[in-house]
Amino acid sequence: MITPVLPTYARVPLSFEKGEGAYLFTNEGEAYLDFGSGIAVNALGHAHPHLVKVLSEQAQRLWHTSNLFVIPGQERLARRLVEATFADTVFFTNSGGEALECSIKMARKYHASLDRPERFRLITFEGAFHGRTLATLAAGGQQKYLDGFGPVVPGFDQVPFEDLAAVKAAINEETAGILIEPIMGEGGIKLVDPQFLRHLRALCDEHGLLLIYDEVQCGTGRSGKLFAHEWANALPDIMAIAKGIGGGFPMGACLATENAARGMTAGSHGSTFGGNPLAMAVGNGVLDIILGPEFLDQVQEKGILLKQKLARICDDYPDVIEEIRGKGLMMGLKCKVPNTEFAAACLAEKLLVVGAGENVVRILPPLVVDLETLDEGIERIERACKNIRASREITAEAS
Ligand SMILES: *Cc1c(COP(=O)(O)O)cnc(C)c1O
Repeated sequence: MITPVLPTYARVPLSFEKGEGAYLFTNEGEAYLDFGSGIAVNALGHAHPHLVKVLSEQAQRLWHTSNLFVIPGQERLARRLVEATFADTVFFTNSGGEALECSIKMARKYHASLDRPERFRLITFEGAFHGRTLATLAAGGQQKYLDGFGPVVPGFDQVPFEDLAAVKAAINEETAGILIEPIMGEGGIKLVDPQFLRHLRALCDEHGLLLIYDEVQCGTGRSGKLFAHEWANALPDIMAIAKGIGGGFPMGACLATENAARGMTAGSHGSTFGGNPLAMAVGNGVLDIILGPEFLDQVQEKGILLKQKLARICDDYPDVIEEIRGKGLMMGLKCKVPNTEFAAACLAEKLLVVGAGENVVRILPPLVVDLETLDEGIERIERACKNIRASREITAEAS
């Protein structure tokens, strides 16, 4: 018999009642160290006092008015995002997938507004993940997610990861732009070579295409910069964000230059909930902290420490971990053993991590993690490695 909750997730049979900083607590009061951050969402950890305060204050005053009216929190958050980035304008959504939908529609509309509606195709990359809507699934191009859902939304041309020649070959008279994650998240924490992003920028300029970044996962301070592409010095025309900017409240946004947004006028796009006062209070609250003095420097420093210590574990346990990748507090361990076995060994040490493609386990501590807690997590990872090795030696001896 089907469960009341649609059984689309393979869940860990564990639930939590309370969170505080980097820790989650079960009903029985058992503490788990959360180095998955709800898949890079809880950027400021759990129950951050400032977010609790701004959300509760907003909840006392006003929840929802719809976008029929001016929402002051939107005006403020948009202005701050515009000041902090390449963008001139922002559309607010409830999720990453919707932020991508807006980005895709905007790119198509841009060319249509220039009297070339035939330019609607986007070049995307193998292994990418852009969401679960029909269009974003087509953009990601992963067969396992597309199977059984009818005709694939047209307009996406997939090329191999970091293959510039393939990108060039894929550009034709129907191409509208290029869509890429500056750090691939679900695909296995793959950093795109900064040089490659600059090449894409140059190609877009040369061919009149729009460069679109998906920073839903790698953005909002995760990499140690406000947005990951800042490491590469290659600005986009459009960028989708979500996850961390909501700090646990469902929200996302599509950021764009004035030029890229030229086709988007009154009536061309919309969302009932997008940018609602509660979400905007939290988004502004997240920026209050992340844009604070030295916050991102600290993320970078902690990221370097984390990487060094993980590299040492990788050296000590080459039979368990093959490679360390990532930037800032967005790290990936490419495993020698199945990543599910690695995640289970971490869980046994009461450490939460997240799997990803290419047999990677993601280590995504909250950006506010302190050094002591970071070390605690690293020690648990090391113990997990030790236990994996021990259990495999026992199995090898027995056979
Ligand atoms: C999570 C994610 C999405 C989809 O976001 P949802 O909020 O689940 O719709 C899109 N792109 C990337 C890179 C993501 O990590």
